[in-house]
Amino acid sequence: TLTAPRDLPQTDARDHSALLDDLRQAIGDTYVVTNAKDFDARLIEDRGLRRGTALALLRPGSTDEVATCMRLCHAAQVPVTPQGGNTGLAGGGVPNGGVILTTERLNQIRQVDPTNATMTVEAGCILANIQAAADGVDALFPLSLASEGSCQIGGNLSTNAGGTAVLRYGNTRDLVLGVEVVLPDGRVLNDLSGLRKNNTGFDLKHLFIGAEGTLGIITAAVIKLFPKPTARATTLVACTGPEPALALYARMRGQAADTLSTFEYIDRLGLQMVIDHAPGCNDPMTEAHPAYCLIELTGNGAQAALDTRLESALEAAFEAEEITDAVIGASEAQKDALWALRENLSEAQKPEGASIKHDVSVPVSRVADFIREATQACMDHMPGLRPCPFGHFGDGNLHFNLSRPVDMADADFLAEYGAFNRIVHDIVHQMGGSFSAEHGIGTFKRAELRRYKDPVALELMEQIKATLDPGHLMNPGKIL
Ligand code: FAD
Repeated sequence: TLTAPRDLPQTDARDHSALLDDLRQAIGDTYVVTNAKDFDARLIEDRGLRRGTALALLRPGSTDEVATCMRLCHAAQVPVTPQGGNTGLAGGGVPNGGVILTTERLNQIRQVDPTNATMTVEAGCILANIQAAADGVDALFPLSLASEGSCQIGGNLSTNAGGTAVLRYGNTRDLVLGVEVVLPDGRVLNDLSGLRKNNTGFDLKHLFIGAEGTLGIITAAVIKLFPKPTARATTLVACTGPEPALALYARMRGQAADTLSTFEYIDRLGLQMVIDHAPGCNDPMTEAHPAYCLIELTGNGAQAALDTRLESALEAAFEAEEITDAVIGASEAQKDALWALRENLSEAQKPEGASIKHDVSVPVSRVADFIREATQACMDHMPGLRPCPFGHFGDGNLHFNLSRPVDMADADFLAEYGAFNRIVHDIVHQMGGSFSAEHGIGTFKRAELRRYKDPVALELMEQIKATLDPGHLMNPGKIL
């Protein structure tokens, strides 16, 4: 039988002064911050939806120091919430009492091995800095998210982040060869292997990737590097809806093969919001269309060859009536301008009032069905609703966002959060999909996990948690 979701009480009446003294001695006075005003931003999640409490912020500077902090907290039975850039979208980094441990000072690139095509990075390295370091050795680290200027690789691993390059390179999980993890009791698991072949029993790194800090603290990782593409061909195409977009996706997959790196979907309402609210973003087409796809091919050959490949696929798509218009980026600036339309979608929805967001995935073959069915069901529930589906169509992952009716109060709309979750997630579930494609469970989706996850899988997750962290001290109240 499964235990109920577990929350630790937010108030902890125990006297922790001896623990704090020991922590100060272990990592230095300045790295144990106890004035809550000095770490207020770390008590709140990115969208301001949840606030937690913590007795201190710990800022260790090495794996050994992380291990000492964990050992001391374990002995004192004080919970630890790991934090990277605090950009997570599921509330996983919000502390539930105890201490916050930030990896921000573990920010060294330990090794670059261009021949092995790997880089060993510490958990606190900012993703954009890792991309730049890869670029410096003429290689590519393909993980790319809008938060890349502030999220850290430890957070990316812990959420198994997706982003815009999954279609070609996979999720974060696919980009990692080894990890170093400090366990809840302070032991250090050294699995920093740079091997591409290593069948020596259970592949333990995968337990910690996507665990959102509930099983231990990732302190370093060996990540894969790829050849840097020398050419990219970028287009925004218009189509009459999700069905032709799906036909186009199948065509691009066939004709562009593994040069297809991006296939993102944008509906008209979303594009209109970007045009209305994002500075410098304009409609690149002369007429409005029901839907759009941002497509990019990347390759290592000549630019002209990639352009020809894209153009011939688009010609065939016009003939098959899969698309009704297309704009091809002729310069790097034009390509970036097309990307800006996609990148500004989330932000552009904010001035339109409250929105209810779903981060879902279905098999790619069902994406068009999902958009139609979910849109209809939500509109039936609330006439006047403004559905705004967009996202990683080629991964089967949509951000199925619902903006409130124009004349409705935000609070009245948000009162329907649960009802919309049920409508959308039930459809996703019936299609064999996932109610959390890339953002994780954190605190926000724990009830959904209990509702939709296979019960045996949940039981195994509980057992693994109990083995590694019997006291529920590691990021309590998250996932399980
Ligand atoms: P945090 O938010 O600090 O932590 C996230 C979770 O991981 C928490 O549960 C935390 O406890 C745990 N954690 C952090 N570091 C460690 C560690 N070293 N060891 C163990 N546990 C740890 N996500 C996507 O997948 N795809 C996107 O396209 C995407 N786009 C985004 C765009 C914007 C504008 C924003 C704000 C967020 C976006 N996200 C996206 C969500 C977020 O950026 C990712 O989840 C990111 O991977 C989180 O990294 P972080 O360092 O900020 O982690």
